Amino acid sequence: MSIEKVKVLIIGSGPAGFTAAVYAARAGFTPVLYQGGQPGGQLTITNDVENYPGYPEGVIGPQMMIDFQKQAERFGTEVRSGMVTSVDFSGWPHKVTVDEKTEIEAEAVIISTGASAKWLGLESEDRLNGKGVSACAVCDGFFFKGQDVVLVGAGDTAAEEASYLSKIVNKVYMLVRRDEMRASKIMQQRVFNAPNIEILWNTETDEVLGDEEVSGVRVVNNQTGEKREIPAQGFFVAIGHKPNTDIFKDWLDMDDTGYIKTIPGTSKTNIPGVFATGDAQDKIYRQAVTAAGSGCMGALDAEKFIAEKEVELAEAEA
Ligand code: NDP
Repeated sequence: MSIEKVKVLIIGSGPAGFTAAVYAARAGFTPVLYQGGQPGGQLTITNDVENYPGYPEGVIGPQMMIDFQKQAERFGTEVRSGMVTSVDFSGWPHKVTVDEKTEIEAEAVIISTGASAKWLGLESEDRLNGKGVSACAVCDGFFFKGQDVVLVGAGDTAAEEASYLSKIVNKVYMLVRRDEMRASKIMQQRVFNAPNIEILWNTETDEVLGDEEVSGVRVVNNQTGEKREIPAQGFFVAIGHKPNTDIFKDWLDMDDTGYIKTIPGTSKTNIPGVFATGDAQDKIYRQAVTAAGSGCMGALDAEKFIAEKEVELAEAEA
């Protein structure tokens, strides 16, 4: 079986991946982009995007990602469905395996694998996932119209999702594990102003209740130990994200939470020819526009790397 050889391989299809693709394609590399498990990335599970420059009226997340893809394809990017399941960065070109079977050799690899929602790790949460348990209010809030829901988390995401849900459901119980919220003041204010959001301070999830679908949540006050059951049909988890970088951990330098380390001011990792962009390497900003910007950096760094490698190889042959 012959191994496919590509110049620029992009892993991931969020703003970082598609921006890298636009730049790499316009530079003439005909990049190959693997979409991964969530084509379009996190913006496909969001609604209005109001902070991406150039859209004075805002844009719907999924539509934005369709446009990103079209723009990348217009210049010759080959967008493929598939999941990169392992990599071998021990030599060069870099080896990448897709769906555990297809082997590809790439001169440059741009990692844009993003981040995924974190879960609490309760058995009941896992068992009832998709049966009332969700990590995306914008995707699933609609199903709980007029019902009661519980939401866990106290950051900006949780505040945003609680406000969003409050417009659809009858009541939102928001579980905050401390006596204050991490969310920005303006987002907190939105939560406080919603008449149908009740914040339960110092409160954690003991168990999600229900056999076939969520029927309630048993919560525990972490100060008093007191437990109570809240009848609810939906259980939303909004406690942050984890970078999708597990397949690279044997090769790339990462921080202790799995974010890939890059040389400051570049997308370069510790392996020459491997570049990290977007949320996979950014635990601070995590915005579509910063991801897109770093995708651009990834493509420009890859372009420079390939050009230098060609000179190196030509000199070695001469
Ligand atoms: P964060 O990491 O900011 O917040 C996570 C929240 O979940 C914290 O309040 C944390 O509690 C809580 N939490 C974590 N683990 C548990 C647990 N096991 N049980 C209960 N609660 C838990 O994540 P976000 O997704 O909210 O935000 C990520 C980044 O994106 C932030 O920088 C944020 O500002 C930004 N953002 C901005 C938005 C905007 O500007 N419109 C919208 C959404 C996100 P604790 O505080 O006690 O640690």
